[in-house]
Amino acid sequence: MALYPKPLEELINGLKKLPTIGQRSAERLTFHLLKSPQEEINALAEAILDLKRKIKSCSICNNITENDPCSICSSEKRDRKIICVVEESCDVTALEKTDYHGLYHILGGRISPLEGIGPEALRIKELTERIKRERPREVIIATNTDTEGETTALYLSKLLKSLNVPHSRIAYGLPLGSSIENIDQLTLSRAMEGRRRL
Ligand SMILES: [Zn+2]
Repeated sequence: MALYPKPLEELINGLKKLPTIGQRSAERLTFHLLKSPQEEINALAEAILDLKRKIKSCSICNNITENDPCSICSSEKRDRKIICVVEESCDVTALEKTDYHGLYHILGGRISPLEGIGPEALRIKELTERIKRERPREVIIATNTDTEGETTALYLSKLLKSLNVPHSRIAYGLPLGSSIENIDQLTLSRAMEGRRRL
C-alpha cells in the first residue's frame, strides 16, 4: 500500500528530482502546498508551465529570453563592438551587476573531454559566424577558471587568433579581504600574471 494518496506521491516524486531536494524536503514542500490557497497553487503551476512555454534562446547570443533578439542584443545603449563569451546564462546575470556594457555570447556549457563534451556541442560555430559578420573590436573570454573553463578559454583563444580578432581573458583576481599568505599558489600566480600598471 502506498504511503500517501497518489497525487501527493506524484508531487513528492516530482520534487525529489530537483537539486538539493530529498525525500523529507519533498514531503514538507508537498504538505505546505496542500495547505496553500488555491490561487497561489495556480500561480505557481502557471509559472512552471510558462518557463518552458515562454522562455527561448536569443538567436544572436543564445541567452535565455522571452523576446528574440533578447533585450541586451536589441539595446541601443550597448557597445556592439565588444562581445563577452561566457559558459551559461547565469554568468550574464552576474556580469550585468558590473559596469560591463558590451554584448554577450553564451556557449551553453564548456569543453570537457572527460564528459565527452567537445567544441561542436557548444555554440562555437555560431560565435565564429558572428565574429566574421560583426567584426568586434574585442572579444572577452569569461569562462570559469576551473580546468574545463581553462580548456575552453585556450580553445577559444586559438580560434580567435586564427580569425585575427583582438581578444582578452578576464583577469584572475584575489578575493577582497584575503591575505596573500592564505591564497593558493595557482590563484596567486595568475594574479601576478594579470597585474596591471598603476
Ligand atoms: Zn541576445
